[in-house]
Amino acid sequence: MENNSIESTSPVYTLSTTSTLSGIPVHSIRQYIDKGLIIPFKKESNRNLFSQVDILRLRFIHKLLDEDGLNIAGIRTLLAVIPCWAIRQCSTVERETCLAYRSDAYPCWDASEKGTICKNTNCRECDVYRIVENYPDIKSFLKTLIP
Ligand code: SF4
Repeated sequence: MENNSIESTSPVYTLSTTSTLSGIPVHSIRQYIDKGLIIPFKKESNRNLFSQVDILRLRFIHKLLDEDGLNIAGIRTLLAVIPCWAIRQCSTVERETCLAYRSDAYPCWDASEKGTICKNTNCRECDVYRIVENYPDIKSFLKTLIP
């Protein structure tokens, strides 16, 4: 049972509890992690932990797959076009050094080379990564950028 007193972003649930709470099989959650659709909190022991917000994100991913007909590659492409450089206001010089800007192959948090402002940011806490949580249809977020 979910505990409402737990901070929604606190990583407190194990993989198996997350599976039970979200209704998504463990092997699917592992696949979403492998494909960079979700970033679990990593304990020092290397175990993954998840928060209530992560559970919402997992349900969002699952809905895109199950109801909206997207596949994992399609979801990666969708997340890859979120204009992180505009949200984080990267300089032109910074953009050119950042793979997240130059490539559309993966979400920015999955890029191997990032601009300087991203290097020391925890992607789990970044507004770009959290768009899915705050604007589940993504397009409503884009409308705030381009009215
Ligand atoms: S901090 Fe991470 S999630 Fe945020 S824009 Fe940079 S790479 Fe993307």
